[in-house]
Amino acid sequence: MRRLFAALLCLLLLSGCAAPTAEKAHWAMDTYVQISLGGTDARTGAEAVCHLLDVLEAQWSPVDSDSFLSKYNRGEVEPTGEQRAVLDKAAALAERTGGAFDPKLQELISLWGFLSKEYAVPGENAIQAALGNKKWNLGAALKGYAGDTAVALLEQMDISWGLLSLGGNIQTFGEKPDGSPWRVAIKDPKGEGYAGVLEVTDTASVVTSGGYQRYFEENGKHYHHILDPKTGYPAESGLASVTVIARDGMTADALSTAFYVMGLEKAAEHWRQYRDFEAVFILSGGEIYATQGAALTDCEFEVIRHEN
Ligand code: AMP
Ligand code: MG
Repeated sequence: MRRLFAALLCLLLLSGCAAPTAEKAHWAMDTYVQISLGGTDARTGAEAVCHLLDVLEAQWSPVDSDSFLSKYNRGEVEPTGEQRAVLDKAAALAERTGGAFDPKLQELISLWGFLSKEYAVPGENAIQAALGNKKWNLGAALKGYAGDTAVALLEQMDISWGLLSLGGNIQTFGEKPDGSPWRVAIKDPKGEGYAGVLEVTDTASVVTSGGYQRYFEENGKHYHHILDPKTGYPAESGLASVTVIARDGMTADALSTAFYVMGLEKAAEHWRQYRDFEAVFILSGGEIYATQGAALTDCEFEVIRHEN
């Protein structure tokens, strides 16, 4: 009897030590996705996140002519309450960034070939026409929104920690099992390695936008995918990449794209005004700037302070 009790106790202790974890790779939103979760519901959680990403892609895809977004752009459907909230939030972020994040650039993005991947430098008249033809495209904010919805889902489950990687977007969830901060590497825009490491605690979205992530070359010139809504051409603000850290993923995502368009000075002013995020800027020359609250390590950088 005593031996049985000891065996049972041992089993209980063992199951207590090894909290289940799950790793899953997935392809969604034109991006390689990696999911790591810990907690009793880790496996079902990973599957639920994959399903969620597929559902979001089916709704918001800019290339699938059957997506909600394509139908909405053609005036064929009305948004649900949730879809309306996403569109409204995108419009508010456009206003907040003075139009640097513009969720209605679908025609322009398509004209440059960034949707079909058949790239071409368009003529001036075509650019002006595309700028005037306002159709929704949420490519600059959707992965951040996906992170937010994944967090909301995991909060309903027995999940203690999680890490989601969606291309340039990292979403952390909860605390790392050993209690140390999450360490998120920022890619070196010009090389294979990393330029620095951000330490993040608890649930946060870390989003990087950079011209190196998607581009083509024509006649020796480099044309990247982040477009300046004022000119219709790839943004040239002196930045090689922008990383934004915020609790709200959709905001972080829209801001990283907007700051890439706005440049360092305007982005720093935006941070002083709003204070609901931190950011790291890497200039084309390689110099790194970080806002005061960004826990950046493993590199040298200038600090952007509240008072300049
Ligand atoms: P991100 O990687 O989040 O910076 O988003 C870039 C993607 O958003 C591009 O591939 C385009 O599809 C779209 N995009 C490009 N420029 C803008 C812009 N100024 N505002 C909103 N979306 C944009
Ligand atoms: Mg973005």
